[in-house]
Amino acid sequence: MARVAFLGLGVMGFPMAGHLAAAGHQVTVWNRTAAKAEAWAGKHTGRAAATAREAAEGAEFVMACVGNDDDLRQVCTAPEGAFAGMQAGAIFVDHTTVSAAVTRELSALAGERGLGFVDAPVSGGQAGAENGQLSVMCGGTPEGYARAEPVIAAYARICRLMGPSGAGQLTKMCNQIAIAGLVQGLSESLHFAEKAGLSISEVVEVISQGAAGSWQMQNRHKTMEENRFDFGFAVDWMRKDLGICLAAADENGASLPVTALVDQFYKDVQNMGGGRWDTSSLIARLRK
Ligand code: NAP
Repeated sequence: MARVAFLGLGVMGFPMAGHLAAAGHQVTVWNRTAAKAEAWAGKHTGRAAATAREAAEGAEFVMACVGNDDDLRQVCTAPEGAFAGMQAGAIFVDHTTVSAAVTRELSALAGERGLGFVDAPVSGGQAGAENGQLSVMCGGTPEGYARAEPVIAAYARICRLMGPSGAGQLTKMCNQIAIAGLVQGLSESLHFAEKAGLSISEVVEVISQGAAGSWQMQNRHKTMEENRFDFGFAVDWMRKDLGICLAAADENGASLPVTALVDQFYKDVQNMGGGRWDTSSLIARLRK
């Protein structure tokens, strides 16, 4: 069992840190809003630290799950940030969805200090974090990954090293690119069914058995029909992720016309007041 710090106890981080404690690791948590860390320590075996630096002191592994590139940079490099407290040989494991560029920048900084850095974004949403069933896609050195993997296992259904630093984030971008077009296609299909006077549940019962079937169709068609959009990953987060994908595509030359279009559709949803709605709310824009 390892000494582990966990930084960022949001929707994802709070239950992930809980799984580490339940697995028997010695866990110290930190959250910018201290009340959440106190609440975590009241519920789990482990302690709350006053700063990221304090949480990281003496830890063999420092896991983080915060918001975006700037948040991660701050949590790592601020005077009271994690890198200042970490001892040489310790490994920073980043579960935030960020750009491959900031990942490589922070990984290089970590290396100068004798620290390991594994980018390890996740998919599986709030339910996956709560059930300990996340898909974890990693980038880094084989040595750093081999040490971190048994710790990540506390909340992973699958965990894999995809390549050098940044490769985990690039894999997460593939995930988001695949979802964007799929949710728009599903929205258009259900919207068309409504306009054609068909029953959505009957249509889905039939077409989900064939090539059009998807996790989104199975799990979201009913709530989409009911115009209920409080079931997970928020539009504001999705726009952050699609922005990262489009910037990376600008660099590597990939052509992402549908992703770019769907990103604008999500902007429309934000303008409708749906920034905190879940990503299946693309259908609300069609019904407008
Ligand atoms: P969240 O509930 O909004 O939590 C964000 C966490 O980051 C909070 O603990 C927040 O602290 C902390 N934070 C933000 N900015 C910070 C800063 N500058 N300094 C220190 N702490 C900061 O978000 P979440 O849903 O857990 O998502 C976290 C990350 O996982 C995001 O990158 C997201 O894209 C990714 N992700 C989310 C899901 C999902 O379904 N939710 C799925 C896959 C990946 P405070 O409490 O003080 O605000």
